[in-house]
Amino acid sequence: MSVLITSVGELVTNQPEGAVGGGPGEFATLADAALVIDEGRVAWTGPASRAPAADRMVDADGRAVLPGFVDSHAHLVFAGERGAEFAARMAGQPYRAGGIRSTVAATRNAGDGLLQANLRRLAAEMLAQGTTTFECKSGYGLTVRDEERSVALAAEVTPEVTYLGAHVVPPEFERDPGGYVDLVCGAMLAACAPHARWVDVFCERGAFGRDEAQTVLVAGMAAGLEARVHANQLGPGPGVQLAVQIGAASADHCTYLDGADVDALVGSGTVATLLPGVEFSTRQPYPDARRLLDAGATVALATDCNPGSCFTSSMPFCIALAVREMHLTTQEAVWAATAGGARALRRADVGHLGAGARADLIMLDAPSHAYLAYRPGVPLVAAVWQGGERVAGSSA
Ligand SMILES: [Zn+2]
Repeated sequence: MSVLITSVGELVTNQPEGAVGGGPGEFATLADAALVIDEGRVAWTGPASRAPAADRMVDADGRAVLPGFVDSHAHLVFAGERGAEFAARMAGQPYRAGGIRSTVAATRNAGDGLLQANLRRLAAEMLAQGTTTFECKSGYGLTVRDEERSVALAAEVTPEVTYLGAHVVPPEFERDPGGYVDLVCGAMLAACAPHARWVDVFCERGAFGRDEAQTVLVAGMAAGLEARVHANQLGPGPGVQLAVQIGAASADHCTYLDGADVDALVGSGTVATLLPGVEFSTRQPYPDARRLLDAGATVALATDCNPGSCFTSSMPFCIALAVREMHLTTQEAVWAATAGGARALRRADVGHLGAGARADLIMLDAPSHAYLAYRPGVPLVAAVWQGGERVAGSSA
């Protein structure tokens, strides 16, 4: 059954009008527009006055329609929570990578049903806020069994599953980090690779150094996974350059970059994924997004939703932060949260609304994309379609 969404005040397409096939292009909009969904895909976009007939019609009444958000970085398989740690941090204690270990202990002790329920609750929370594609990492199990069940559970809710056995060295390997890297590249990888598309590593002081990170990524790629890297979050480091050299889809965080890091990202196939919710929640300085954008790097925005350093699942909140705190324009921020995320996941079918794209789209209770930053904290996502199916929202 085809659906015509008409009287769209602003249709954000990220694609030139009439383009068919190919991935997301530059930020682009149509005013007084319409869109036709058929067979789960975008079949047509253009002026409302020229819209073809369809089986059903939805009147947007001047509201904005955007591609669904693509959240390319999230850690949703875990048990427990760290509200007290957050409160202590807000009272002046610094964030350290070792905090991950408390979630590891809770996750290992949790049954599959609890992990699954927690994951599904967060996935539903994301969808209701307009996220129609999300990546989900393992990394709170850190044993063969616990990492395998983490990626298997994640694969139930998204095709974008990331094996992050190299999140932090678990306590039982504290005196033998090399032995842990061997496990991550050996039995753990063999158990997890069938459930995953991506391999990731936390390349950071207190986690994994450059050589260990490279070993993990090379092993994952040899097992058929594609690479992405947690890089340069807590201080300057080799992560970004490693990500570019190895051909990773994305270098995530990019909070501490030098000129060589920026130069490496520009013109590479590696997206700089910024996670401003982390800086907000840890009171760290924000990444220099303007420097990246002005140099020509491809920038994505993602939540990094996790129980420690940033427990938001809201892409609209991250867009508002990107505009207010990192000086992105509203257009740049929305592009980074849709098309940018799609590039960071190497997906051509999402992040835009060109003809042929997956019909993943959201309607705002607002006339333009700018309201996502103009009205921060307000739940503006009025309706969500995923694969052409209306999955959230009642007003239309
Ligand atoms: Zn992360």
